[in-house]
Amino acid sequence: MTDQSSHATLMARRSRTLGPAYRHFYDAPLHPVRGQGVRLYDAEGRAYLDAYNNVPSVGHCHPRVVEALAAQAAELNTHTRYIHPKIVEYGERLTALFDPALSQVMFTCTGSEANDLALRVVRAVTGGTGIIVTSNAYHGVTADLAELSPSLGAANPLGAHVRTVAPPSGVDGGASFAAEVRTAIASLQAAGLRPAALLFDTVFASDGVYLDPPGCVAGAVAAIREAGGLFIADEVQAGLARVGSHMWAYERHGVVPDIVTLGKPLGAGHPLAAMVIRPDLLAEFGAKTRYFNTFGGNPVSAAVGLAVLDVIRDEGLQENADSVGRALQDGLATLAQRHPEVVAEVRGTGLYAAVELRGAPGTAGQGISWLLNDMRRRGVLLGSCGSHGQALKIRPPLPFGEDDLAELLTALDEGLSQDGLCHILGA
Ligand code: PMP
Repeated sequence: MTDQSSHATLMARRSRTLGPAYRHFYDAPLHPVRGQGVRLYDAEGRAYLDAYNNVPSVGHCHPRVVEALAAQAAELNTHTRYIHPKIVEYGERLTALFDPALSQVMFTCTGSEANDLALRVVRAVTGGTGIIVTSNAYHGVTADLAELSPSLGAANPLGAHVRTVAPPSGVDGGASFAAEVRTAIASLQAAGLRPAALLFDTVFASDGVYLDPPGCVAGAVAAIREAGGLFIADEVQAGLARVGSHMWAYERHGVVPDIVTLGKPLGAGHPLAAMVIRPDLLAEFGAKTRYFNTFGGNPVSAAVGLAVLDVIRDEGLQENADSVGRALQDGLATLAQRHPEVVAEVRGTGLYAAVELRGAPGTAGQGISWLLNDMRRRGVLLGSCGSHGQALKIRPPLPFGEDDLAELLTALDEGLSQDGLCHILGA
């Protein structure tokens, strides 16, 4: 048991040692000490419903994942410069989940490294440097990726080789998205820059979650290819069965990317990420240069990745994401009808959803911040998205069940009814 004073002491030690660039969630930061399935438990033994974390894709501390990790760690852990059957098997199992055109894979530890490698590939293959991203995109931690991650804020300058476009939204979103990409291509060319890639998160998560209508990204993908560039689908957040209807969110749009980057959910908490790619592109890249990632794709990571894929298959987690995901979207639509004075819009598919609040984005962002803290007090963990954090982000581990959903919707119904929220929103 930790009492309040030891919690405060830990907070003080944390800020003294880790410094100011880390943020923590909630006015009263959460201190979980144990996780299981879709629950986190704090030091006082209180259970929280995790409706936020996609990294523990198959649930927190899944016994099969823990066992696979421990067994391989006890036997051997080296790197991809030695031959190991699990690394090869994981590569085969992972690429089998993609269109046959995407038949090769390279492993990294983080989504950032996967995106960074993809950037190296598109530069090497197209000879261009121009990159098009969405207006509130986040693609990772490296200096190169910070230059194309506008969500890091106005003080973080974008690269001169970067152009931003609004994500597709509304019924005509596909046409406007394609038109914006064409304008961005023209702007790059006018600056003497050859377009190398269109890079977007296939659920447009940090933009605020935009998944519809299916097919809405096709025109934009065609436009970048006509201009000699490639399409990198960032599935770091969207991937691995979360949208339910498909394994990967881009598949809903009927497009096949040139490169797909993967991360967060692959290792269910273990640092495992990957770049899946057309072999002709990798052949060209490999002829020009090489890539070795010390920890990426080591045998322990491969064992973990295999266990995650096994659990998704054996526990029917894609089917669960589809059925519980439909109920989630229906339930949120009902809540939006019950609370028209505070809810502006509900968006999403499967176990990925956003609930946008009414009002100017800054005010709605304050409302979401209030709601997140309120929901935490009710024992439900959620997040935010959008340029001003004006939408609630719902993205639970895949084993999220119907009872969990009922608990979430009841708590959210109560949270959305509170005077405190209406007061902030002026509703
Ligand atoms: N792409 C997207 C869409 C992400 O959401 C993130 C992480 N939030 C990344 C890339 C970077 O992944 P990582 O934190 O594993 O480097």
